[in-house]
Amino acid sequence: MPTDTERHADTEGDCDVLVIGSGSAALSAALRASAGGLRVTILEKTSALGGTSAMSGAGTWVPANHHAAAEGIEDSPAEALAYIRSASPRGWQQREDELWAAFAQNAPAMLAFVEERTPLRFKLTEEPDTMAECTGGKRRGRMLSPMPLRKGILGGYAGKVRQSTLPHLYTYQEVYDGDLYHRPLRGTLRVAHRLLWRLLTGSRAQGSALVTGLLKGCLDNGCRIELDSRVVELLVGEDGVVAGAIAENGGTKRRYRARRGVVIATGGFEWNQDLLEQHFPGPLDWRGSPRSNEGDGQVLAAGVGAELDRMDQANVYPAMPTRYEGRLHGIPFLFQAEPHAIAVDRHGKRFVSEYDFNIGEAIDRRDPVSGMPLHLPAWVIADRRFVKLSPVFRSYARKKRGWLVQAQTLAQLASLIGLPPNALESTIARYNEFCARGSDDDFHRGETVWEQFKAGGPGNALGPVEEAPFFAMPLNRSILGTKGGARTNAKGQVLRPDGSVIAGLYAAGLSMANPIGTRAVGPGTTIGPNLTWGFICGSALLSDNRR
Ligand SMILES: Cc1cc2nc3c(=O)[nH]c(=O)nc-3n(C[C@H](O)[C@H](O)[C@H](O)COP(=O)(O)OP(=O)(O)OC[C@H]3O[C@@H](n4cnc5c(N)ncnc54)[C@H](O)[C@@H]3O)c2cc1C
Repeated sequence: MPTDTERHADTEGDCDVLVIGSGSAALSAALRASAGGLRVTILEKTSALGGTSAMSGAGTWVPANHHAAAEGIEDSPAEALAYIRSASPRGWQQREDELWAAFAQNAPAMLAFVEERTPLRFKLTEEPDTMAECTGGKRRGRMLSPMPLRKGILGGYAGKVRQSTLPHLYTYQEVYDGDLYHRPLRGTLRVAHRLLWRLLTGSRAQGSALVTGLLKGCLDNGCRIELDSRVVELLVGEDGVVAGAIAENGGTKRRYRARRGVVIATGGFEWNQDLLEQHFPGPLDWRGSPRSNEGDGQVLAAGVGAELDRMDQANVYPAMPTRYEGRLHGIPFLFQAEPHAIAVDRHGKRFVSEYDFNIGEAIDRRDPVSGMPLHLPAWVIADRRFVKLSPVFRSYARKKRGWLVQAQTLAQLASLIGLPPNALESTIARYNEFCARGSDDDFHRGETVWEQFKAGGPGNALGPVEEAPFFAMPLNRSILGTKGGARTNAKGQVLRPDGSVIAGLYAAGLSMANPIGTRAVGPGTTIGPNLTWGFICGSALLSDNRR
């Protein structure tokens, strides 16, 4: 029996593969399937293409890649797997090992394939693995980002790539090299000739380049793209096979039949208030993704019997206020990782090294019994120099009145933000003592490979908080994308709670149950894996045909 929605769906669209969403995971799946000869339709809910991926820095973590090999950096899928095993949270291996192995095996082939089939060209960045000390960790060679691309290569779609909150005129590496956060003018002048050329040619880097290049590859391989098409229902045949979907477009419902399968790649659920409150209870600061990431894919998958898993995992990353599409939004930045600043919990005590890349994991740490965050509300406490050192910080701080709280003494600051004044004063006194001695006995700030890289050298991370006025700003969870969703096998096929495959249904990117959760094993461990999982789904669709 057709459902109500099916009965009202009036137009038919036939294809081999239906891809829901247009971010990194979606476009990678579409590229792989279409390059293999399948007819692919991509449905995007909004009028802009690329989702969070287009907004991103496109820092892309791909172990054992050919760029590293060309520079003589030794790496292999086996080493990458060993690293993921040793750097991931205890207890995850049993459930995720098969998926980790599939990722490590496919990631290098994915990157080579993307460069072969699209105009995208990646370049290594200088970043180490976030836990480079772990078995299999690397000091360089796994992080890449795309070189700038001219949007004009997309023809009629050139104006359809989603805008970012980040300055995509610069490459990922130029943002670092030019120290734009502290010296925006000097950093800009250093590369002014390149920026001018990009302005003249309409070229952009980072996530804009990523999505431009992927889209170009998809268009060249005949993918059909439909904007403003929100998938609202999956079509399931009497045999239980997912055979297509129904999408709403301008008040009209359309039915899409997909002969091989449907790929859910709709991103996270951070803009779905109910799901967010259920899985991330407690204080939240900012969200960095487009508001269309409402967990549609998770809901659609659950509706056909999928197991949802890792729903309490997310890309939790410090962010500052900005404006996007006319409203307040978060721009991700590790703004707390500055010498004259510390992070404190709701008791006024430090709880993490402020330079830890995975500070988001500590911010989101939960009470195992109540599930509520242990440390929140948390705060960054800083002195005069923290604010003085960055014009960029000052301009973002002005975006939201009251975000930056100021006082002449630490005791006054503590009372303004509801912290116990004595506790805050003694925390700062202890931290300042560590600065004088040059070593942080509590959290070893600035000592790991990653933290030394971030600080620009050993010893640079420690600067006392002692010069008035003092400042406080919230450091609660900011979410760039949740990481829970449909549980899949190593081919990207969606599974039921009993482990059986829902034939014809695949999931990739942030709408799948991510085998790399809140703890990032590399700085780009969403885009790299998302591209890889899209590639894996596309490969499976080429060979599986509903099995
Ligand atoms: C500013 C910023 C910078 C970042 N930088 C990095 C970085 O450098 N490296 C890194 O690894 N990660 C980074 N991230 C995180 C990364 O961008 C995301 O994790 C990733 O892009 C998610 O990719 P995705 O393909 O799963 O989803 P998205 O790219 O979010 O795509 C999902 C798409 O699905 C569409 N959609 C949703 N529901 C439906 C529906 N029902 N029907 C049709 N379409 C639908 C959405 O509109 C959206 O376009 C950054 C995030 C932000 C916000």
